[in-house]
Amino acid sequence: MEQEQMTPMMRQYLKTKEQYKDCILFYRLGDFYEMFFDDAILVSRELEITLTGKNCGLEERAPMCGVPFHSADTYIARLIAKGYKVAICEQLEDPRLAKGIVKRDVIRVVTPGTLVDEHMLDEKKNNYLCVAYKNDKGFGLAFSDISTGEIYATTMAGASYAENEIARYAPAEIIVNAAAQAEIGVTVTDRLGVKPEVREEDFFSSYTMEEQVLLQFRAAQLSDIGLSADGLDTIAVFGMLQYLEHTQKGRVAYIDHLELYAVSEFMEIDLATRRNLEITETMRDKSKRGSLLWVLDKTKTSMGARKLKQWLEKPLVNPIEINNRLYSVQELFDNRMLRDDLAELLSGIYDMARILSRVSLGTVSPRDLISLKLSLEKLPELGALLHNAKSPLLSTISKKLDIMEDVRTLLEAAIQDEPPLTFKDGGVIRDGYHEEVDKLRRAMTEGKTWIAQAEAQEREETGIKNLRIAYNKVFGYYIEVTKSNLKDVPDTYIRKQTLTNCERFITPRLKEIEELILGASEKISGLEAALFEEVRKQVEAQTDRLKAVCETIATVDVLAALAEVAYKNDYVMPEMTESGELTIRDGRHPVVERMLRDTIFVPNDAHLNTTDSRMIILTGPNMAGKSTFMRQVALITLMAQIGSFVPASYARMGTVDKIFTRVGASDDIAAGQSTFMLEMVEVAGILKNATAKSLVILDEIGRGTSTYDGLSIAWAVAEFMQDKKKIGAKTLFATHYHELTELEDKLDGVRNFRISVKKRGDDITFLRKIVPGGADDSFGIEVAALAGVPNEVVRRAKEILKKIEEEDLNGAYKVKKKQREAPQFQIGFEENAALEIAEELKTLDVTTYTPIEALNKLYELTKKAKGDL
Ligand code: ADP
Ligand code: MG
Repeated sequence: MEQEQMTPMMRQYLKTKEQYKDCILFYRLGDFYEMFFDDAILVSRELEITLTGKNCGLEERAPMCGVPFHSADTYIARLIAKGYKVAICEQLEDPRLAKGIVKRDVIRVVTPGTLVDEHMLDEKKNNYLCVAYKNDKGFGLAFSDISTGEIYATTMAGASYAENEIARYAPAEIIVNAAAQAEIGVTVTDRLGVKPEVREEDFFSSYTMEEQVLLQFRAAQLSDIGLSADGLDTIAVFGMLQYLEHTQKGRVAYIDHLELYAVSEFMEIDLATRRNLEITETMRDKSKRGSLLWVLDKTKTSMGARKLKQWLEKPLVNPIEINNRLYSVQELFDNRMLRDDLAELLSGIYDMARILSRVSLGTVSPRDLISLKLSLEKLPELGALLHNAKSPLLSTISKKLDIMEDVRTLLEAAIQDEPPLTFKDGGVIRDGYHEEVDKLRRAMTEGKTWIAQAEAQEREETGIKNLRIAYNKVFGYYIEVTKSNLKDVPDTYIRKQTLTNCERFITPRLKEIEELILGASEKISGLEAALFEEVRKQVEAQTDRLKAVCETIATVDVLAALAEVAYKNDYVMPEMTESGELTIRDGRHPVVERMLRDTIFVPNDAHLNTTDSRMIILTGPNMAGKSTFMRQVALITLMAQIGSFVPASYARMGTVDKIFTRVGASDDIAAGQSTFMLEMVEVAGILKNATAKSLVILDEIGRGTSTYDGLSIAWAVAEFMQDKKKIGAKTLFATHYHELTELEDKLDGVRNFRISVKKRGDDITFLRKIVPGGADDSFGIEVAALAGVPNEVVRRAKEILKKIEEEDLNGAYKVKKKQREAPQFQIGFEENAALEIAEELKTLDVTTYTPIEALNKLYELTKKAKGDL
């Protein structure tokens, strides 16, 4: 583009855009944000707004589209939801006062991982930005939620750990270096649905790195905050600060408390397990309803809701820390009055954490401050309620609670009870807080009386009875006289406007009054804004104390919620031990039991240890309840380790370091990833990572391939898992390969269990009780009958089964089976080729091909289809 010939404004636009190439630039022009060129074309398409043009000095007009600034938020939200970033470029001076072109600059970049606007955020969820850095020593990860001011960092060796850790936070945006992208980019994109953004190496390094990190976290040296100059976590944190600087323009001083942790402090749950156990969302539609979080979330505040989700994402492994939480839940469980009082009190507390971030970012509204005040008003009562608490966690909280008297008093004195949305229109500062404001306000109210008086006086002096004084924006206060009375208008009146049946005048006396009134209102809004800013700064200065209060409220809220759920759903306190034992009596699946409508959930026992009962082989017909049982064991373990009571009549357990669950391919079809390959990749992951302290759930693995392959794999996996020298993890293994029940006699520590069913004639009833022993029959055909498959088909199936079993005895079946399988593989291959070709076609851009190239491509594709390539 010929910049020389462009209008100065367009040159300014292009210069700004140059610095924010990765963003859509919202360029403020008067009452609109305008977009130009490619941005305009893109936005007009994405948001369906009209594309126009603007003269830019060149022959052709620049494509342009715009949105009104006062409703920009909704447009920005829609663009963010579509994965774009928006840079907001504001006018930095009053256009009326500007000499030449108005000064403009980007004041904020809105990206999916750095949202602060409450309308764009889910109040019950953190919104994380992730920075992942990789070099030959491993990975450094940093996570931050700037809407709450949290920042976490950790390091790890391998890519799979990094992926699991990223899955834990499910960030909305991920920044990586090229090395990290190479290792985790594909998995993260495919399985977490977020495409990482690659930044150059120099983004992650600078000779001022140490200085900047120290400044942010107000530390004297790196070791004070657990970092070192060459640490991977330091680099990740620095990358985070760089990105926040770029997007927030240096207003993130409030993110000053770095939480450094080691992955080993929390239970490891890999990506597939997290999904499969439906901890915070369901597998199918990603909804909260139907997840464990849905059952447990009886929190009253947004801060509590987010904290509970964090606990679920990071179960503890240290029994002392777990007991700390459990004892408090116990205390609240036992004390119903306290629980009810807390619930009521907490219901009146607003999202102080996010308000606090807005205080620091300077976007806080007067109403936010009132919400903050109302929340702080609850603190003395909270202190009183917890005063007699006995459990260590609650009594520490009650002793340390800061009731924030000073901030509350300030807000009470300074801010009107029901202030307008913004302070621009005044009416924010409370009467009596500031003398000048009071004086100006008086002038304004008295102004009305003055006008009324002036009107009466003019009427009397002129004798015009219907004379009136009114106001409009164009010429302020004026006197209006109807046509019939014009003859009585004195010479001192200055005519301003003539309408059909009246005329409008002003007088010097009227203008004097006007000046007093309007001057006051103009002065007052400026003064109120300044006072509000002062109050904001005073609140900001107390950020640390207020953050601690938010933390306290969130924790109390979660503990009270867990106690309430435990009470309502009849849970018990698990007994945490140092042993490797896991005993559950009358365990129930926390979610399934809430979902069942017409039937009652049948409780079941489970017992695993590190000696004679390390592995349970679970058999039973389809739909008997195998998967439900195994998941319930995993969920009960997980619940205990976040400090929750559990759905059982008794539970005793040592903590586990990791939980794994793998589901055979065909159970996973909903995810569209029902390939045997994926199943095996996941099994490989377990075999590499499980330890003797892990809990492993294997649900019909081997199902995605032919019977004999599947059986052999399942068998070998079971052996490896059970072997104390290899892994020796506590394992629940559901299988339809009844052959595996032979392992009980062959290997030590293996126990057979089955889910009982009652068979009467052709009818079966699921009893859902787990009993020792292996099932000898899969009842597949009975289940088919139960599902309503026509009698004729069921009868025929039985005939076939009988025949096959006879043949099998004669050894003939195996040969035939092999023959049947061969063509199956062929079909699989062709389908695969077709898929590959379809994929390739999708990515082809035919417009870029010459006719010859196109012909070559076609030839290549045909060969592929025939299987020659
Ligand atoms: P399987 O894995 O053996 O095929 P599932 O665990 O998927 O069976 O269970 C099938 C259905 O049976 C579940 O969706 C649930 O509705 C019901 N179910 C399972 N276990 C129980 C139980 N203990 N009590 C009541 N209903 C159960
Ligand atoms: Mg199942």
